[in-house]
Amino acid sequence: MDLFEWQAKELFAKYAVPTTRQVVVSTPEQARQAAEDLGGGPVMVKAQVKAGGRGKAGGVKFAPDAEAAYQHAEAILGMDIKGHTVHTVLVSEAADIGTEYYFSFLLDRANRAYLAMCSAEGGMEIEQLAVEKPHALARVPVDPVAGVDRAKAREIAVAGNIPEAVRDEAADVIVKLWDVFTGEEATLVEVNPLVRTPDDRILALDGKVTLDDNADFRHADVHDA
Ligand code: GDP
Ligand code: MN
Repeated sequence: MDLFEWQAKELFAKYAVPTTRQVVVSTPEQARQAAEDLGGGPVMVKAQVKAGGRGKAGGVKFAPDAEAAYQHAEAILGMDIKGHTVHTVLVSEAADIGTEYYFSFLLDRANRAYLAMCSAEGGMEIEQLAVEKPHALARVPVDPVAGVDRAKAREIAVAGNIPEAVRDEAADVIVKLWDVFTGEEATLVEVNPLVRTPDDRILALDGKVTLDDNADFRHADVHDA
């Protein structure tokens, strides 16, 4: 089962993956209130549909203040994105972006193995990245028994060309994303973009998590959301 972005980011917070504070709403008034509750500073207003490419479709907007959040929510709610009607929007603190990276853990069914995918060239959709810049996308097999410790996480970050200056920080986040992957029995944990901020912090600004349907009964908390 695919989760919404807001559910994925809640799981990130649960496992201490650095991300932005957020509120899910379903009316423009609630979006304005959420922006105020988040401190009145700039926020992102993001369509919650289970489809990628929301940004390109006009479903992800930057709002400098609460009034702009109201207006963006009004425009985005009810929008159709790839056949999905937008019923809720996520209002999240807007982070300063320096560089966008791509990261994911996934179950490689064909090889009965786990795979980490990492690239210092994030932002675009994974399908596009894989086709247009295959060399920039590192694929690192993960031994399910050994798992991902700090050394393995660094190996993945190096393979993905994550710059030295933020490699330790990125490795820390990768270990925590592995905790999400195993702790929630996910078949996919994808972060795109994983962002390097101008002050060299690493933040997960978008999340896609797919849970193993065969493990449903153990995750009633997520499934009832
Ligand atoms: P997607 O298009 O469905 O993958 O939605 P994303 O959540 O990835 O958002 C699309 C784009 O919006 C990202 O690639 C970022 O460039 C931008 N974006 C998302 N969150 C933030 C944020 O907190 N601050 C800023 N400045 N841009 C953001
Ligand atoms: Mn994204």
